Amino acid sequence: MPTAAKRILATSISIALPILVVVASFVCVSCQNAPVTGRRQLMFVPKSNETEMGATTFNQIMKEEGESTNQHYIDMVNRVGRRIAAASGETYDWEFRVIASDVKNAFALPGGKVAVYEGIMPICQDEEGLATVISHEVAHVMARHGGERLSQQYAVNGIGMAIGKLTQNAQERDRKLMEQAYGVTSKFGVILPYSRKHELEADYIGMVLMAKAGYDPAAAADFWERMTASAAGGGDATPPEFLSTHPSDDRRIAELRRRLPEAIAAAQGVPEGEAVAAKSSEATAR
Ligand SMILES: [Zn+2]
Repeated sequence: MPTAAKRILATSISIALPILVVVASFVCVSCQNAPVTGRRQLMFVPKSNETEMGATTFNQIMKEEGESTNQHYIDMVNRVGRRIAAASGETYDWEFRVIASDVKNAFALPGGKVAVYEGIMPICQDEEGLATVISHEVAHVMARHGGERLSQQYAVNGIGMAIGKLTQNAQERDRKLMEQAYGVTSKFGVILPYSRKHELEADYIGMVLMAKAGYDPAAAADFWERMTASAAGGGDATPPEFLSTHPSDDRRIAELRRRLPEAIAAAQGVPEGEAVAAKSSEATAR
């Protein structure tokens, strides 16, 4: 084959392949349903890859951020973490660690890696408050929000990646992509907020997990009120995830209160439609 023809063929393949990936994402060949909510989600990252990447990144972050030596916090986080993880029914290699920093935050990485910063513990106040934070993070893992974000990144970057592959080191490119997808900056320790959709879904699934684990899911809205008050009073430079604007705290609290009966019903295994019907007949009776 003449050199020019070879070049055209190679170019066509490098362009066609990523287009196929994008098309596949639109027709949703690689879709799955999120647990609890049943929302359709784009997913073409194998669970095993995601789990492995999550574990590697988690170890790097823990090394960078530094482990807490507060035994009371460590015990509490592990106790609550195990209970919530059991309620999730997911058999990941769960890890619940405490970071020695007064940042009011927490985060989770794919594969069941959850970290809570010391700074959020006083706002939690008790195990119920901590259960709110941990169940929200476990919900992100359970619903594979990291893998979904990675899949979206692949879909968006597909064409650019193929064209740029000649100039960029593939390993470096994949690492950057993973960091973007999981919202981890190159310096680590900073987890960018998820989308509003993911946050609200994690809040809702979190309440279901709380109820399943025997915690009072009504504590979630109370926790967020304390969190909002703390952010307003402290004048903090708002760190992401737990002090993110996705969604705004007011919207979040309103949604938590609105969906509380639905979450309790879901935890008891009552189909959603029946729970809604029961709620509206209750409202009419009043
Ligand atoms: Zn979140």
